[in-house]
Amino acid sequence: MATPPKTGTLKTLADIAHLLQTSRPDDKPLDHIVRQVRRTLKVDVCSLYLLHDSKLILVATDGLDLNAIGRVKMPLQKGLVGLVAETLEPVVVKEAQSHPRFEYFPKTREERYESFAGVPLIERQQMVGVLTIQTKTVRTFTEEPVAMLSLIAYQLAPVIRNLVTLEIFRKKTKKKKPASLKLSGTGASPGFVVGPTIILQTKLGTIIPTTIKQAPTIEVRRFREAVREADQDLADLEKKLMKKPTQKESDIFTAHRMILKDRTFQQKVKKEIQKKKTAEQAVIKIIEQYLKTFAQIKDPYLRERASDVQDLGQRLLSKLQAIESPLKNLQQEGILIADRLTPSETALLDPEHIQGIVTVHGGHTSHAAILARSLGIPAIMGVSEKDLKKISSGQLAIVDGNSGNLFINPPRQVLQEYERIQEKYADRLVQLNTLADLPSETKDGRQVHLDANVGLINSMNYLGRYGAEGVGLYRTEFPFMIREKLPNEQEQFQVYRRILEGADGLPVTFRTLDAGGDKPISYLHLDDDASFLGYRSIRLCLGEPQILKTQLKALFRVSEYGRMHILFPMISGLEELRQVKKLISEVRRELKKRKKLPSQSARVPIGIMIEVPSAVHLAHLLIKEVDFFSVGTNDLIQYTLAVDRNNERVADFFEPFHPAVIYSLWKVVQAAHQEGKWVSICGEMAGDPLMTPLLVALGFDRLSMIPANIPVVKKIIRSLKYSNLLKDMKKLLDLPTANQIRKRLARYQPRTTYP
Ligand code: PEP
Ligand code: MG
Repeated sequence: MATPPKTGTLKTLADIAHLLQTSRPDDKPLDHIVRQVRRTLKVDVCSLYLLHDSKLILVATDGLDLNAIGRVKMPLQKGLVGLVAETLEPVVVKEAQSHPRFEYFPKTREERYESFAGVPLIERQQMVGVLTIQTKTVRTFTEEPVAMLSLIAYQLAPVIRNLVTLEIFRKKTKKKKPASLKLSGTGASPGFVVGPTIILQTKLGTIIPTTIKQAPTIEVRRFREAVREADQDLADLEKKLMKKPTQKESDIFTAHRMILKDRTFQQKVKKEIQKKKTAEQAVIKIIEQYLKTFAQIKDPYLRERASDVQDLGQRLLSKLQAIESPLKNLQQEGILIADRLTPSETALLDPEHIQGIVTVHGGHTSHAAILARSLGIPAIMGVSEKDLKKISSGQLAIVDGNSGNLFINPPRQVLQEYERIQEKYADRLVQLNTLADLPSETKDGRQVHLDANVGLINSMNYLGRYGAEGVGLYRTEFPFMIREKLPNEQEQFQVYRRILEGADGLPVTFRTLDAGGDKPISYLHLDDDASFLGYRSIRLCLGEPQILKTQLKALFRVSEYGRMHILFPMISGLEELRQVKKLISEVRRELKKRKKLPSQSARVPIGIMIEVPSAVHLAHLLIKEVDFFSVGTNDLIQYTLAVDRNNERVADFFEPFHPAVIYSLWKVVQAAHQEGKWVSICGEMAGDPLMTPLLVALGFDRLSMIPANIPVVKKIIRSLKYSNLLKDMKKLLDLPTANQIRKRLARYQPRTTYP
């Protein structure tokens, strides 16, 4: 049954219905959209109904009488359109007029139309409207046009919502013109969004205290609240342990409580807060002072008390970071403005509420950005801290995740321009959707498989929508990040099984744990400074083989539920690879003993990521011992060019078109093909349409990217002639600079470019 939208949506839709009836008769973007859909699907009518006040209002049509716009309002229980809204499913009727739910609206003059298909428009899990098509002659709509219509509706819903917000704001700005601001950063997740800003004031989880400070009174309140909660916990522990015969354990917590309630301790922390520190910073400072003092005490018993102080400090910090957890309970809708977001925080974001993200820290290949892309949330990262402070909560903002531009209180012309962009964007979506079922091959038949990169289970829903042929990279670290301790074999087994079953027969490449760098996992023994060069990824897994063995056991066990590959990250040479293979043998032996080794596990292809420059040089040796390669260009670029992929100050040096990078790719493909093995690329570069001709020409067999990029990359592939590309390739490989390579590749872009 249709869930009625919440009040916020009703208000928005009421506004759009009103605006569309009253404003700009000559230039309506929704009209443009229905026109495009009608043409694309070659039908006689396309109409759009939006939900308002439990009624579906006709807001745009190409085919029905234009006078009906805004006047046809049907209750949810009535008409075929109402049936779509009620069932939330596509409704297809060959002879509409003889259907019991057919409702005749004379204003539309729709008696001329025979066949009907309608699909719901669902945005952020709420039904916001219905998109319909009709034909003059009786027609059996096959699955294909209906699937296409659903796809279009799915993708248009956010665009329509943006147009609605823009319209409303245009109206509002007529009355009052607040100061506008244009800021810029790196476009980290594509798409446009218009909405109110939400400033994230505190740091969470693994984040070190924020640089965006709140008023001292708020910080003191947070501290007091943390003290209260910590005291409650300690009292509970005390009570529980009282029952023990020695009572010693209980005494420990009594001591903790005494320090906690000590006035001097509390005064000291508050004093630090008055010096414009966050509560966390103040607690850390005072706890450290206490620890220093304890260290100087001669009496060994008293010196020992230092550990109590440390323990207490930890407790307070965890309370502080947990109490203010706005991300977890965020009910507001809008654009999140924050100093930084960790991947696990990004994974916590609810795309139902967070429409866009703007941060100071993080770059295009940071995991927060990758997750934002997989959640479909437009994002800008690398905005200067100074600029960020100019924004306040509740201002209207446009986030342009493509160009990295952020507009606060945008002027009228900018709003108009974005409206135009939205229109074009809608056109492109309509056109690109027609590609989902077409093969990914060049004009002369060279096939390149297009796979999806997946981090979160819910991204699996997008595979079919975008025509992915498999999952080229499933990053297994996310299930580890959202837990407080290592998931055991059974827990991992459940997650991987859901992924594999969700792929519905398509192959899934599971990458083993790649912790560290910008994928921190608090309970593992990783380097503290999030270094990309330290003890992480496969190094950690070989250093603590139980971690990898448990994961491999879970992976081999799920092999009976679908087609899968296993991929090992950050391999730098043969020794590491051989250690990995030894562990694989051990795991298989152990599983066999437990009678838990499915026969399918013997056929699981084993591959390695090529993302460390040494592996590029040794590719010809490494390939002999594996079934495939997958190139991780995010890391390969950072390690080849010595550019921290997370440091926005060196973002300009992160150059995918650098000749050294291109040459490395060439070497890797050559090595793989020499041994008759396949090679994929799963770094962000694979989804960049400007790169597509080059990657095809280099010979990559598979490209793996965020699902939403698949149609645009496929479109480029289908426009190419492989034989011509090969001729051009030699010249390309000889070009000495990134700019020259980029310029030459631009020739292959289709003439009609979209924003
Ligand atoms: C890469 O390095 O290109 C890659 C795909 O892996 P990750 O981004 O997870 O490090
Ligand atoms: Mg990597």
